[in-house]
Order: sequence, then structure tokens, then C-alpha cells
Amino acid sequence: MDGQTDIPKAAEALTRGELVAFPTETVYGLGGDATNDAAVARVYAAKGRPSFNPLISHVPDAEAAFALGDFSEDAKKLAHAFWPGPLTLVVPRVAACPVSLLASAGLPTIAIRVPRHPVALTLLKIFGKPVVGPSANPSGRISPTTADHVRRTLSGKVSVILDGGPSKVGVESTVVGFLDGKPLLLRPGGIAKADIERGLGMPIDVQGHAARPHAPGQLASHYAPHAELRLNADAPQAGEAYLGFGPFHAHGPFTLSATGDLTEAAANLFRLLHDIDATGVARIAVAPIPHHGLGDAINDRLSRAAAPRDT
Ligand code: AMP
Ligand code: MG
Repeated sequence: MDGQTDIPKAAEALTRGELVAFPTETVYGLGGDATNDAAVARVYAAKGRPSFNPLISHVPDAEAAFALGDFSEDAKKLAHAFWPGPLTLVVPRVAACPVSLLASAGLPTIAIRVPRHPVALTLLKIFGKPVVGPSANPSGRISPTTADHVRRTLSGKVSVILDGGPSKVGVESTVVGFLDGKPLLLRPGGIAKADIERGLGMPIDVQGHAARPHAPGQLASHYAPHAELRLNADAPQAGEAYLGFGPFHAHGPFTLSATGDLTEAAANLFRLLHDIDATGVARIAVAPIPHHGLGDAINDRLSRAAAPRDT
């Protein structure tokens, strides 16, 4: 199959909310429509991740990136110096950001990259919307650098596998965050720290022990609803909003999935938590969520949100 000629077919699949594998210069990506909650949930389901790591949104150029996130002058400097290329920038989401909150794992930030691969860039231009693209491998397996790697582990879960030859860089992108204005190296990758520093014209801190709160896993715990959470609740008590799940535990307007579909529940999770918070209610009772499929990731997220927190 000729990878190039399948690009329009892949774009159509993305439009239908289906998943596609696409080549980038770092590794092959598992693509889904970043603006479609259900498609993003399918990406997590296909990878079998036990938690919701935030995903990178891929766009065809810096202009498209600037429409999604709030880029400081320094962030723009790096964008212009290294895009397209193996650099991911994490910046605050703009208020009108159309990317699914699930792709940000509920965080107020968004990770964005312009890949340097003609097939990826053509796909992004034809599709016209941002595409989430974690590495196209099941969680815990090695990142794929050929279409054949993807075929071996993910066929059946993706509608189209675009073949763009072996990935040239072969390691993931360097991730630089601009979370409180100051750049921070969140993950080493395809572009060396020294090159980033040259591009910025200043030294950059590495996410290390001192900067632990910025580690993505822990960052994820930063976002919690204002309301308190009560888990495994069969029904709401007075003064509680109810986050329902499944046919026996759907008592109101905030239902993750009336049919008990865990992928649908994941797709709705962060949006519903925000919606409930917007009502100003002090406590959220959450229906029991099973521990299979995306249930693990949903429970992981809910128990972080329910954990006692500093004020
Ligand atoms: P991958 O799954 O290989 O595409 O890696 C994505 C990387 O970007 C992971 O290290 C994520 O934790 C990181 N990342 C994505 N979004 C964010 C974000 N909003 N804040 C911090 N790190 C992020
Ligand atoms: Mg990976």
C-alpha cells in the first residue's frame, strides 16, 4: 500500500472520529481528532494506558499552534527556531481552545508540536484540525519507528496506517513547558538541551527534584474540581451533585455514560467535572466505575481529585 495516496483516506477517517497511525520524524503517532472527546478517549483505550497522560496536539504550522495556546515571546522564539521539528511546547490553553479537555488530562495547559515529516504535515493540512498523536504502541511497549511496528501491535484498532518509511529521529520530542512564564525542560528528546538554550538565548532548568511539582503525573493532580468528591456513591445525598455512570447509577444531568460505556465515560469526564464545578455545588457524589478498560484511568483520575488537598 502506498502511504502517500492514503492520506486523504486517513483524513476522512479522522473526520469520522476514527484512529489512524501516521509517521513523524520522531516515532509513529496514533492519531485522533484532538477536538473530538470520543476520538481522544479511543486513543487512550487503544493504547491501554492506566492513567490519562496529557497528549500532544499536532498542527501543520506555528500559526495553527498560536490559535490553541498562549505563547510568550520566549515560547514563540522556540517555535520559530525548531518547528517543524521534534520539539513540543506546553503552554496555557487559550479560553477558546477547541482541543478536548481530555487531551489536556484536565490541565489548563496544552502540549503542541509541528512535526517535520511530509506525510504528517500533509495529513494535518488536509484534515484542518489538531490531531493528538501519542506514540502508536500499546502502553508499556516500545515506541514504533516503522509502519510495520504499528501493524504488529495496533492493527484492528486503527482505520488507516500511513507508511512514511522509518522515523529518522527515532526518539520522542523534547518537551519544554512555559507554565509560569519560565521555560522548563519537561522531557529530554530529539532536540538537545544545548540547542534549546541556544535558541532561547538563556539557560533552561530541567524538571528535576526541585521542580517535581511540574512532573506531568503530578501536574495532573493540580487540576481538581473545587467541589469535594465522594466516590463509589450509589446515589447523591442532599446538597450533592451526582456524577452518574451506567443504567443503574444515572440520577441526573451529569452522566458519564448512561449505557455504562467506559470510552464514552472517559470522553465526558473532564468536561462534566468542569460543568458541575460551574454550578457552584460543594460536593460531587460519583457513581461506582468498574476497573476494566478505561475504568482504571477514570478511577485513577477520580481518586486524585478526591484526595485531600492543600488549600
Ligand atoms: P507522548 O505520549 O510520547 O506523546 O508524550 C507526551 C509528553 O508530553 C508526555 O511526557 C506528557 O506528560 C507531556 N505533556 C503533554 N501535555 C502536557 C501538559 N499539558 N503538561 C505537561 N506535560 C505535558
Ligand atoms: Mg510513548
